[in-house]
Amino acid sequence: MTLPDLPSKLANILACPLCHGPLQASDEKLFCTTCAQEYPLAGNTPVMLPADHPLLPVFREGLPPLPPLSWKGKLRQLIPEPEPRVWTRSSQRAIARALAEARPDDPDRVVVNLGAGVERVFQQLFAPYRQILYIGLPHSGHVDAFADAQLMPLADDSVDLFLSSSVLEHVRNPEQAVEEMARIVRPDGLVYAEIPFLRAFHMVPNDFQRYTYSGIETLFERHGFSLVEKGVCSGPFNAWGLLFRDFVFVITPTRPLKMTLRAITSWLVHPFKYLDHLFENASWATYQACNFYYLGRKK
Ligand SMILES: [Zn+2]
Repeated sequence: MTLPDLPSKLANILACPLCHGPLQASDEKLFCTTCAQEYPLAGNTPVMLPADHPLLPVFREGLPPLPPLSWKGKLRQLIPEPEPRVWTRSSQRAIARALAEARPDDPDRVVVNLGAGVERVFQQLFAPYRQILYIGLPHSGHVDAFADAQLMPLADDSVDLFLSSSVLEHVRNPEQAVEEMARIVRPDGLVYAEIPFLRAFHMVPNDFQRYTYSGIETLFERHGFSLVEKGVCSGPFNAWGLLFRDFVFVITPTRPLKMTLRAITSWLVHPFKYLDHLFENASWATYQACNFYYLGRKK
């Protein structure tokens, strides 16, 4: 299958998300040569959502256009907020370790990031590599293909490293999403995932679960991964800081005051989050962490 602008590594492994059959390109779409399901193209980006997928109308033309700037958006531009989470050094080392082993730019190796990887940490850690593939349903940024984590449009055993940050809590069926990771990762390949533990209900109503330090390991174990390492991704100071910010937000009655206080508390708690660097290896940090990371290998 050839499509202009589609990375050749993706063209080699792109498959029907329903039956994993091979695809063919015609003028305005892709179609599965096995089950005949059609997938539209947004520009040259495949939208790999089946016809009955609830988000197909949203992503059919690519990323939904930004709505005209509301007073809330204008206020946000006026008072920019810091990135919500601060990543521990151990989580950053785990990502770097996984990338170094997977070698994204080697011709026969494939690394996939679920989503656009817009956070500063990922932009820095991904910067040395040119051939990481981006697949998902992001709010912003660029992806090479639009797809649902529960129905990945990739061939079996085709990926050397699959990265997922803060997506699994927003997936209705996380077991199915991890089963998909187990299907597409090659034997001996790696999966790196970050999932929140103590975060407020967010992206309402599409926020479905949290995992403990033990739960994140057993989630992947159930689908055939063995632990390489796990740890605190953003620690208790991140958790308390963000919970405080979000608590002030929900109890504040009026919208303009809400947004102003949110901007103020965001900056107020931001320095406090860096204290997690001092305690990232303390066992108690796992009891009240904001997020955990998991690095596993497919058996
Ligand atoms: Zn098919």
